[in-house]
Amino acid sequence: MSNNEIPYKIYLEESEMPKAWYNMRADMKNKPAPLLNPGTLQPMTVEELSVVFCEELAKQELDNDTKFIEIPDEIKSFYKMYRPSPLVRAYCLEEKLGTPAHIYYKFEGNNTSGSHKLNSAIAQAYYAKKQGLKGVTTETGAGQWGTALSMACSYLGLDCKVYMVKCSYEQKPFRREVMRTYGASVTPSPSDTTNVGRKLLAEHPGTTGSLGCAISEAVEVAVGTEGYRYVLGSVLNQVLLHQSVIGLETKAALDKYGIKADIIIGCAGGGSNLGGLIAPFMGEKLRGEADYRIIAVEPKSCPSFTRGTYAYDFCDTGMVCPLAKMYTLGSDFIPAPNHAGGLRYHGMSSTLSQLYADGYMEATSVEQTEVFKAAEYFARVEGILPAPESSHAIKVAIDEALKCKETGEAKNIVFGLTGTGYFDMYAYEAYNDGKMTDYIPTDDEIRKSLEKLPKV
Ligand SMILES: *Cc1c(COP(=O)(O)O)cnc(C)c1O
Repeated sequence: MSNNEIPYKIYLEESEMPKAWYNMRADMKNKPAPLLNPGTLQPMTVEELSVVFCEELAKQELDNDTKFIEIPDEIKSFYKMYRPSPLVRAYCLEEKLGTPAHIYYKFEGNNTSGSHKLNSAIAQAYYAKKQGLKGVTTETGAGQWGTALSMACSYLGLDCKVYMVKCSYEQKPFRREVMRTYGASVTPSPSDTTNVGRKLLAEHPGTTGSLGCAISEAVEVAVGTEGYRYVLGSVLNQVLLHQSVIGLETKAALDKYGIKADIIIGCAGGGSNLGGLIAPFMGEKLRGEADYRIIAVEPKSCPSFTRGTYAYDFCDTGMVCPLAKMYTLGSDFIPAPNHAGGLRYHGMSSTLSQLYADGYMEATSVEQTEVFKAAEYFARVEGILPAPESSHAIKVAIDEALKCKETGEAKNIVFGLTGTGYFDMYAYEAYNDGKMTDYIPTDDEIRKSLEKLPKV
């Protein structure tokens, strides 16, 4: 099929939709390092994890061997409300850039939560419901995960308690109100409702909070409340598993038109959208069936892959969660307050960390003013107002397309457009007013934070 027959949006028929999630770990020779019990330093068992997580999710978390896990019918029905998400051929962007490259993006912002996070929220809520739980607790930073989870919980009739990082709670009142509209309770973190929160407030009065602290609060409440478990929207193996639906749809759509991706690009916060997007492509790469250039893009203000250390670290500030081996900046690391949007977690998915350590993917970092410049360009050319997080991938996709312009190569560039920026207008306002700044942590700051890594 010739390229001009490729539609602006490639959709899939119902019969072409993924029926199972794909577990990349099954094809990895070097498996991601196991989660460790912070007390005994022994690998966590399903039983231990099940105190915090739903049992089925604890099993998925530790399952390094099952390649395909069937998507339950109830989840498939929910997916039908907003999936398949479109794979868009960015004809307008290509023309404007004057590049011979073909650019495709997978747009995950077409649901009320505004991001890809709903793909895992519905799965986690489903398994909680199936286990007969009353509700779940979680944290949210920029707010997308909390929104997605509150939607999934209201659909299934589960209670949802969200601990929202205080600065976001104050800066993003509309996110908070969407969550409350879907029935979730939203508490600014640190709060005086938990031991961890009270301790932090006593030590750092006036703190605006961090993801690591909100996680500790949510875990404490889940473990201490009958019929509740904790759920997390990124970083974990189970989340990457659920998000593989993004990559499976993308690959099916490309295959339908005989298109072979050359470069696959995604923004990386905790690694869930990137891990999901690349899953089936990485599978081929791991099995030696095909090769792809895979690029993770992170903010220069929170550069876990590009400036962090590959080591066991705490996943949260309160040190109640299992230890994970990952690229990390240290669990005390808090990105500068001028950093807009998500992508502010100190660590990275242990699956992606292992793949990066083994040379299966690249990573790069970009400054936020460049990111917003790319976001503005993209909005004006392609019509979608992108989330700041997603715009990290846009920036690098544009750079790669411009390189193709120099070399005259018609590469196929695929990137993940993870969400919309409607709730990030304060950040856009700062950019439009010329008040947005960049902050790059010094080597000294990163070293100080890494000094506190647990001795494993
Ligand atoms: C949460 C989020 C991200 C980053 O999280 P990952 O787990 O790294 O995917 C990126 N984009 C959007 C829109 C998000 O909501």
